[in-house]
Amino acid sequence: ELEYAPAPESRSIVDIKASYGLFVGGEFVDGHGSSFKTVNPATEEVLAEVAEADEHDVDLAVKAARRAYDRVWSRMPGSERAKYLFRIARIIAERSRELAVLESIDNGKPIREARDVDVPIVAAHFFYYAGWADKLRHSGYGETPLGVAAQVIPWNFPLMMLAWKVAPALACGNTVVLKPAETTPLTALLFAEICQQAELPPGVVNIVTGAGATGQALVGHPDVDKVAFTGSTEVGKAIARSVAGTDKRLTLELGGKAANIVFDDAPLDQAVEGVVNGIFFNQGHVCCAGSRLLVQESVAEEVLHRLKRRMATLRVGDPLDKNTDVGAINSPEQLARIRELSEAGEAEGAERWTAPCQLPDTGWWFAPTLFTDVTQAHRIAREEIFGPVLSVLTFRTPAEAVAKANNTPYGLSAGIWSDKGSRILQVASQLRAGVVWANTFNQFDPTSPFGGYKESGQGREGGRHGLEAYLR
Ligand code: NAD
Repeated sequence: ELEYAPAPESRSIVDIKASYGLFVGGEFVDGHGSSFKTVNPATEEVLAEVAEADEHDVDLAVKAARRAYDRVWSRMPGSERAKYLFRIARIIAERSRELAVLESIDNGKPIREARDVDVPIVAAHFFYYAGWADKLRHSGYGETPLGVAAQVIPWNFPLMMLAWKVAPALACGNTVVLKPAETTPLTALLFAEICQQAELPPGVVNIVTGAGATGQALVGHPDVDKVAFTGSTEVGKAIARSVAGTDKRLTLELGGKAANIVFDDAPLDQAVEGVVNGIFFNQGHVCCAGSRLLVQESVAEEVLHRLKRRMATLRVGDPLDKNTDVGAINSPEQLARIRELSEAGEAEGAERWTAPCQLPDTGWWFAPTLFTDVTQAHRIAREEIFGPVLSVLTFRTPAEAVAKANNTPYGLSAGIWSDKGSRILQVASQLRAGVVWANTFNQFDPTSPFGGYKESGQGREGGRHGLEAYLR
């Protein structure tokens, strides 16, 4: 009984302040610019007023990072830096419930995912990179930090994206100024509090909240040595143009349109489970989401039958309910984009099927949706929807599957479902995607590099390869 009840008490685990300043030089300070509201997408309740950093604030943050770099952090032995990172990792693990609840409230993701996926991976990243801090000479990428890193991240995995950027940067001896996305700033500010608790030297981590203009000021600051961006391909390209001709190092993690390829010899129930996880995890707000299902013609009917049956059991609703599978859409803008692309799918002739479910009256929601009769020319087969919408295409031969999977300007991830090891290896080697999962999907581990081919970005995060972006 209790398991199925919403958990209003979990809201009280977090102490959300009415307003937040910026985190600069180890202190929370008022910004010089205006402020903006962050909203709970499941209830439309205003959670807090957050400072919007202007150019002057960004300059102060970069100066604080530079001072910390010159005077303390780059001079500290790696073994000492490791102690701070281990301490941060331990505090994240200790405060994991608080972090998970806050992430769920600010982003709209199911608490089960925030608790079982996001936060454990965040802690794991700090533990993993703490271990590298005194072993950099074995990394193969040098031992010298770059300096001040400007890091700009999106709203879909606010804490996880922070960890992927901050942990390796700090381990290598860089200092950072990070800008979280404007719709999800709260867990980054809680992370700032954790840095204080860990007694991290002031200025090693600085957090500037704000929208695109804040990001632009940060990336464009002349005293930044490294730019790390995760977000849309459009903004990524604009950033690449803006740093061209400077000596700033750049890594980009951008969009995707992954193919999840199901062969006729695949264990079908397992494959259907993986397809569902691949597209409905985090409401499909996932850069590596398996948003195109490529299914072999001989099993297509059976797979679709099982897929619809499974989709009909997905629970959509209150993100704080432990039984929720699909939470809220992060913003009205994102909801409008998902709607627009879904309408385009219908207008272009694809067949739309929606999982039967009761959507809450307030908040931003989109029911799990499936499109069949999709052709490669349709917008829903080409553009990143970044929502709970799956486009289904069929194929006859492995060669046709590979051709269709690669027929996209993106190349972040792909999935293969087959019982044959030789087929998995052969197909995987022909896919132009940075990550290929076999008989699983959306698995992340700090020891594995992650990143894109083509317009999905450049550089790798995670694993030993992730150190390259922060060393010379
Ligand atoms: P977005 O590009 O609009 O925003 C990302 C971040 O960039 C935000 O913090 C935003 O404020 C900031 N920003 C916006 N304009 C800027 C500018 N001109 N200069 C500097 N910063 C600017 O993307 P989004 O809508 O927040 O996120 C969704 C996108 O992120 C999707 O395309 C998704 O695929 C991608 N993504 C990629 C990965 C990956 O690892 N490849 C991971 C998560 C998300």
